[in-house]
Amino acid sequence: SPDLAERIANLAGANYQETRVRAVNGVSLKVAEGEVLGLVGESGCGKSTLGRMVVGVETPSGGTLSWRGVALEQMTTQQRRAWELEVQMIFQDPFASLNPRMRVEQIVGEAAVIHGLIRRSERRDYVADLLTRVGLNADVMSRYPHQFSGGQRQRVGIARALALKPRLIVCDEAISALDVSIQAQVLNLFEDLRQEFGFAYLFISHDLGAVEHIADRVAIMYLGRLVEIGTADEVFENPRHPYTRALLAEAPRLDRRGHSFTPIKGEIPSPLNPPPGCAFHPRCPLATAACKTGVPDLREGRDGRRTACILEQEEVA
Ligand code: SF4
Ligand code: MG
Repeated sequence: SPDLAERIANLAGANYQETRVRAVNGVSLKVAEGEVLGLVGESGCGKSTLGRMVVGVETPSGGTLSWRGVALEQMTTQQRRAWELEVQMIFQDPFASLNPRMRVEQIVGEAAVIHGLIRRSERRDYVADLLTRVGLNADVMSRYPHQFSGGQRQRVGIARALALKPRLIVCDEAISALDVSIQAQVLNLFEDLRQEFGFAYLFISHDLGAVEHIADRVAIMYLGRLVEIGTADEVFENPRHPYTRALLAEAPRLDRRGHSFTPIKGEIPSPLNPPPGCAFHPRCPLATAACKTGVPDLREGRDGRRTACILEQEEVA
């Protein structure tokens, strides 16, 4: 629908240079209103960089970021302000992202006051309501971050994001640092909040189980490039890219069809010096000589599946 098309965050062809490393190269992603897009890959693949670019914490040296159909450079002051509020981030380490000298009431509610979403006199009630929605007691608002457990701190971080009425929340490894027993609770909270508020998530994680649980669509990233994107069912039930298959081989519980894919071999190469051709070729069980020269683009096959693998593209050609 036209409505959906307008409400898209699209990061196309972004080249972010960090100590002269191209962490993200030619990646194009769209997030639709209310959807959960999982972004998966090993650490160092560039997925965090991509997430930070979507929120504006890092600036791409090229490419465009659009929000509601308007590119960042084209935005009016008002549109830019809307984007800043509507796209929020939840970090891996809630402790590092919460000011240790502020009480929870201020941490969660102050930005909403500053941006004029609420009056200062309303802050207390506003924060009380948000804390309840994330499963905390309203009376914790007078406490400081160090007085909470990791799971509680992450709930405070979630309340802080909610306070700005986001339409897209970027979660960067948002449950990875939590105790395993707490992870499922926080993941369920993410689901409940999405049901309640209807916002979208860009859910960045190396945890395939968590992604399978929450995502509608899944994008797989390897050394700064997208290698496969599809619905969660497509990607988990019938992965096409050899890298996706290798990731699933390491999480056999998630392999619904009981494939026997070859687990991934070797270490992830340095992004400083990525292998030529298909960057996955040194680790790929199907690599041929052709894989060492051509860089496969992410392309749509006849069946609509999108992968960046020479073999897949030959099959449909
Ligand atoms: Fe493997 Fe070649 Fe496909 Fe790359 S292009 S994933 S090396 S088969
Ligand atoms: Mg990371």
